Amino acid sequence: MISVKDVTKRFDNITAVDKLSFQVQKGEIFGIVGPDGAGKSTLLRMLSGIMEPDAGEIKINDKVFKENRYKIKENLAYMPQRFGLYEDLTVEENIIFFGRLFGVSRREIKKRIPALYEFSRLEPFKDRLAGKLSGGMKQKLGLACSLIHSPDLILLDEPTNGVDPVSRREFWKILYNLLSDGVTIVVSTAYLDEAERCNRVSMMSEGRFIRSGTPLEIKSSIGGLMLEIITANVWRAEEVLHMKGKFKNIIREGNGIKIFTHSEAKDMKIIKELLDKEKIKVLSVKKQFPTLENCFMEIVAGND
Ligand code: ADP
Repeated sequence: MISVKDVTKRFDNITAVDKLSFQVQKGEIFGIVGPDGAGKSTLLRMLSGIMEPDAGEIKINDKVFKENRYKIKENLAYMPQRFGLYEDLTVEENIIFFGRLFGVSRREIKKRIPALYEFSRLEPFKDRLAGKLSGGMKQKLGLACSLIHSPDLILLDEPTNGVDPVSRREFWKILYNLLSDGVTIVVSTAYLDEAERCNRVSMMSEGRFIRSGTPLEIKSSIGGLMLEIITANVWRAEEVLHMKGKFKNIIREGNGIKIFTHSEAKDMKIIKELLDKEKIKVLSVKKQFPTLENCFMEIVAGND
């Protein structure tokens, strides 16, 4: 569905996207995950055709934008981080407005609205001004407006940014439903639990993909384990382990500390010795499989 080859985009002296190459298959949900400034939005803007790469080539369905801009855009939806809803128009008026903007006839819009309401559950709010919707509802309305022309490729730029956890989950249910209708989705996110829900994921940092694959492949490629260590004094334990510099990526969760390890026995010995010296009692140690988030932090810390 998408083929990207050696694509680069620079802004002055910043290389926002750095010689990227990848492909997205029809019918999959492909996640781009990375921190702010990684280059996700720039990449999605180029995939949507609103920004041109400085170098490299993007093909959508084997076609390049230059010669087929109209045809490609007809089948593509792009939802930027700030979808430009008209706050002083109602929910339904927004859908109609964007439908007209995409060149869909009024009759066709009326026919498609029920399906959009069904997935977004926005019908009870159809007469509410968009400006009066909650953050999660605004995102759903943005998605509904983006889908009014029945695209087969959907590009979503951090669609759940700032949305509460329940609405985030709902939004992902919608994405899965769309997938079962046969569309292809590319979604960027800063949330690694969301990345875990994609068929394939690329972890982006400084304009490059530092890891790509299924969530399981990425996790297996890094290997390792998370040790959860419960101590009598979690604050002090964290401080001690940090100070010694051996463990760069320490996560404190409740009254436990989580540490990524590739050599469990050796690291556990070091941890116990360090804590013993400070008279911090280890109450229990649990082993867990790392999440994608654990792996990402480990890669970024340069420990993999
Ligand atoms: P992300 O979406 O991952 O947060 P962006 O693609 O927005 O990342 O930004 C990548 C880098 O490119 C950042 O350093 C950002 O400041 C820069 N950048 C993005 N858009 C522009 C622009 N229009 N002009 C100048 N710099 C930009």
